[in-house]
Amino acid sequence: MLEQKIFYSQYPSSGESLSKLYLELFKEQERAWPRLLEGVAALKDVLTREIHCDGYDIQVQFNPKRIQSTGAKVDAKSIRERKCFLCLENLPLEQQGILYKNEFLLLCNPAPIFHHHGTIIHIHHIPQAIEDQIAVVLDLVKDLAPSFTLFYNGPKCGASAPDHLHLQASPAGKIPIELESRDPHRTEYIKTLGNIKIFMMKNYGRGILILDSHDDQEMCAMFLRIVSAMRNVLAAQEEPPLNIIFSYSNSRWRLIIIPRKKHRPDVYFKEGNDKILISPASVDMGGLVITPIEKDFQRVDATMIQNIFSEVTFNQEVLKQILDQI
Ligand SMILES: [Zn+2]
Repeated sequence: MLEQKIFYSQYPSSGESLSKLYLELFKEQERAWPRLLEGVAALKDVLTREIHCDGYDIQVQFNPKRIQSTGAKVDAKSIRERKCFLCLENLPLEQQGILYKNEFLLLCNPAPIFHHHGTIIHIHHIPQAIEDQIAVVLDLVKDLAPSFTLFYNGPKCGASAPDHLHLQASPAGKIPIELESRDPHRTEYIKTLGNIKIFMMKNYGRGILILDSHDDQEMCAMFLRIVSAMRNVLAAQEEPPLNIIFSYSNSRWRLIIIPRKKHRPDVYFKEGNDKILISPASVDMGGLVITPIEKDFQRVDATMIQNIFSEVTFNQEVLKQILDQI
């Protein structure tokens, strides 16, 4: 089954950069796979508007194709009873990808938020968890630069397949926090440990940590220490709920880590007119909030966004408690 799904085989021996190969795959798949082409064409009808919140701005995107992801049932029973849509044998016939280190398959997402929105799946059906994979993910982040940024949604914070390990790729710079986190006025420098610089976003309505380093091994170790400190402070048994946005530029890795208090806000579960279908994951936390329902897109305002952010994330005080433990 794996052989049928490989469009480009045995990277990195092919000689071309992975970043370029992935762009090439998008071109080929748009030609060969009508559902992807339709998803990309639908991006023309996506609407975006800006909302000014207290201390920060966000963009809201009306994107009806995202209903499956935003509306996904992720409770244990629903997951058990459905076929896993990320397993190789269940992928659409036309869908093919790039095999990476014989572990991950880089695919094109047929319900994109951006043109060149990728889904990166593990070739085996193993649960969504990032700690054991952090070293290979940092390699992948570097290999996909400069064209792509990667993001990870924990099993209880936006992943629509919590039972099958996957990440996503977006064109570099498209998630607002990528640029905003590089503005020294928007961040607070916390400390340097070894070769890792640690920052927090400032006046951002949601607590967000930033790790910056040229050293991948130290980055791996620091990430694991932070997850372990989160486990203590948040009294989490398994992987503490989190979203991560990974990027690589100027020979440095940057991890934007968003610890999560809650997956979906209360308004998500309301009935009738009170219901707002926003299911925040990495992209939303990064400042691009997706609404698959037009009515929600029209009426969402600064107060609603601020309430949702404060409901699903921690404030800076909790983040400082986490950092005090490392
Ligand atoms: Zn699976």
